[in-house]
Formats: sequence, structure tokens, C-alpha cells
Amino acid sequence: MFKEKGEDPQYMPSYKMIKTLGKLYKKRGRVSRDELEQMQQLLWRNCVLCGRCYCPFGIDIPNLIAFARSILRSQGIYGVFPHTSGAPEAECRQINQAL
Ligand code: SF4
Repeated sequence: MFKEKGEDPQYMPSYKMIKTLGKLYKKRGRVSRDELEQMQQLLWRNCVLCGRCYCPFGIDIPNLIAFARSILRSQGIYGVFPHTSGAPEAECRQINQAL
């Protein structure tokens, strides 16, 4: 995705982690609703959880992205794509109709 999107840093696995789970950790979870909604795009639109990212330190980035998604879901924020949203069935239908 990074190569396909003109090497936009927001598609780098490390960027996604730093700006989502990294931020949540650094701020001890004290983030605003707006900040959580900004993370939504990075965690769902910018990652398909394909598991192809490589970290030289052995950090399991897809697993951490999945964990960050679960944190957002616990706050009522779901994915922007139905297949990755994890949203309840009624919300999936609503998302599908909006697309
Ligand atoms: S799981 Fe796939 S899409 Fe997500 S950050 Fe890694 S390589 Fe990119």
C-alpha cells in the first residue's frame, strides 16, 4: 500500500502503529473522541491486516493493529469498510447502504 500510494508515510506500518496504539499508550488512553476518529482511518482504511509487513525487531504489527482496532470498537468506533468493521450486523447493513 505504501508503494502504491506514492510512498505516503501514513501507509507505513510503523506510522500506523505510532499514530494509533503508540499514541494511546503514550497518553495512557487519555485521548479525545476526535483523536480516536482520526485513528479509525489509519487502522481500517490503511491496513487490510494482510500480515505481510516485516519488522526487523520482530514486532507483530498486524496483531497490534488488530489490538488497536479492538480498543476503538470498545469505544463504539468501527471500521469504515464492512468486511473489516467488526460492527454489529445492523451497522454493517447501514455501512453497506452508505457505500
Ligand atoms: S498488515 Fe498488511 S496492510 Fe497492514 S500494515 Fe502490515 S503490510 Fe500493511
